[in-house]
Amino acid sequence: MPEHSFATRAIHAGQAADPVTGAIIPPIYQASTHVQDGVGGLRQGYEYNRSGNPTRSSLETQLAALEGGVSALSFASGLSAEDALLRGILKPGDHVLLGNDVYGGTYRLLTKVLAPWGIETTTVELADVEAIQAAIRPETKIIWLETPSNPLLKIVDIAQIAEIAHAAGLILVVDNTFASPALQQPLSLGADFVVHSTTKYLGGHSDVLGGAVVFGDDRHYEQIKFQQFAVGAVSAPLDAWLTTRGIKTLAVRMRQHSENAQAIAEWATGRPEFSEVFYPGLSSHPGHEVAAAQMSGFGGMLSLGLAAGGDAARAFVENTELFQLAESLGGVESLIGYPPDMTHASVRGTPLAVPENVVRLSVGIEDVSDLIADLEQGLARVGR
Ligand code: PLP
Repeated sequence: MPEHSFATRAIHAGQAADPVTGAIIPPIYQASTHVQDGVGGLRQGYEYNRSGNPTRSSLETQLAALEGGVSALSFASGLSAEDALLRGILKPGDHVLLGNDVYGGTYRLLTKVLAPWGIETTTVELADVEAIQAAIRPETKIIWLETPSNPLLKIVDIAQIAEIAHAAGLILVVDNTFASPALQQPLSLGADFVVHSTTKYLGGHSDVLGGAVVFGDDRHYEQIKFQQFAVGAVSAPLDAWLTTRGIKTLAVRMRQHSENAQAIAEWATGRPEFSEVFYPGLSSHPGHEVAAAQMSGFGGMLSLGLAAGGDAARAFVENTELFQLAESLGGVESLIGYPPDMTHASVRGTPLAVPENVVRLSVGIEDVSDLIADLEQGLARVGR
């Protein structure tokens, strides 16, 4: 396909009409295996669902096109994508440098699942170049970051970290879940891999779990594909299809998520109930300029610190209505969560622990005046 702009690629890449029937939408190939024309006579390389499936292939083509990658692999969840990437590249004795604000499950995977197999992880403040340099060891193989990060919306200068990583012979992995490729394309800024929880903005409708690894070059494709094939954490055909459908509206959804979150961040900035507003679209955010340079919008995620502390934060998340109390993010409907006990419970007592007064909002695409009214009534109930 010629190089079309993002919104066009999101709708057309990997989505050619069915050549047999002309069906405008590629079918869901709900099959576990493929008939062979003689032993090893595979039709278009398809053999068995764990090694490949046409619906998954169409999602993978779409994902690679969106991130500007050479290829992509689609997994059963974001964490299984992360796991395949890490085990495909690392060996016992290797070391990972992890940004100090990331999804709790990523920290748990590295420190609880992979550490017993000999992978070491340290966390580092990625705004501090000297701290990064000091943390790099001879065994370090990967720098792993999120920007904006989960849940404190820290911004990391991807191009700067890519330069540091490559000068030291390291691989840079960027978890692009919060921004989505509609707002930020890390491979174009020097990252080697992008990972996603496609459960979030890419799927976009809170109806599917999935993950992806997108490759900036071919170097590690076979190793990571092998992990996927040998372990089997593939996305199911229906899940892959739902994700391709969600992606087609990603560009318009992200515009509205960003517009709504910006309005809520500005509203919250003036309120005495909040001691902190974590949103990179605010000019007061320490990462605002970097975010403005490397993103085309600031996204739909926003965190707030309650001035009255942890009990007020818990009470607030239990008293909103349109903002439903739930794990996850990135759907069209607004969600609210209490990271210290929910998404980030696994990092309590670690260097990644989330302050007790922080709540996290996944701002949906409802009418923003309804959303603000909901937050106002939630605050009023807490204050009572
Ligand atoms: N990365 C980020 C930034 C996340 O927020 C999450 C889940 O919340 C994941 C990865 C893991 O994805 P999944 O829940 O699809 O395994």
